[in-house]
Amino acid sequence: MKFEVMDRSISRPLPPEELVEAGRQAELFRPAPDVWEWIQSVYLEEGAPLINYDHEHLVAADVAVLWTTAENIRHGRQIAGTAEIPNVKGTRWAKARERDQLMQWFGRIPEFLITLDAVTAAQDEDLNFCALCDHELYHCGLKLDRHGSVKYDRDGNAQFALRGHDVEEHIGVVARYGIVSAGVERLVAAALQTPLIAPAQISIACGNCLRA
Ligand SMILES: [Zn+2]
Repeated sequence: MKFEVMDRSISRPLPPEELVEAGRQAELFRPAPDVWEWIQSVYLEEGAPLINYDHEHLVAADVAVLWTTAENIRHGRQIAGTAEIPNVKGTRWAKARERDQLMQWFGRIPEFLITLDAVTAAQDEDLNFCALCDHELYHCGLKLDRHGSVKYDRDGNAQFALRGHDVEEHIGVVARYGIVSAGVERLVAAALQTPLIAPAQISIACGNCLRA
């Protein structure tokens, strides 16, 4: 599917027909190597149309993408995407089972796993899909020490970690007390400027943010 952003023509990958046809009737998962290739060409590579230097560390990261049709509703909204570090939680067998599944899907254990809802993606506006992918990439962060410096392993490779929200505050607190932190100040400033890419229309329902 082709669309225009900032005078650049972009085409985006759609979920496989098999998943779109199955819809919510079947809880399917399918690897999406084409989506990771698309993400690299749209956000990460030099000259990419929506290049985002905040994700620069992901050029060297091993990221895998998965489509799903499984329903996942939280706070009344279907989750459109999640980002996780796979194979870190669970019992020994649960982890071994997950490793086996990841090997079957990807032939490796990726450093980050992004899961996208195929049903939402098939119907979504192109820009919303772009905003969702950008959002999930922001969760794929670097591990920092308590001084805010990047942590490296013994081989000198930067270590990865899931990254939370930039801003943690209640709307009610801001309404009552104003701009109470530097994070809120930066969010307000960002919201008031013209969007660097273009305005997306629907809010992002992300599984990492919409915690139960
Ligand atoms: Zn999120």
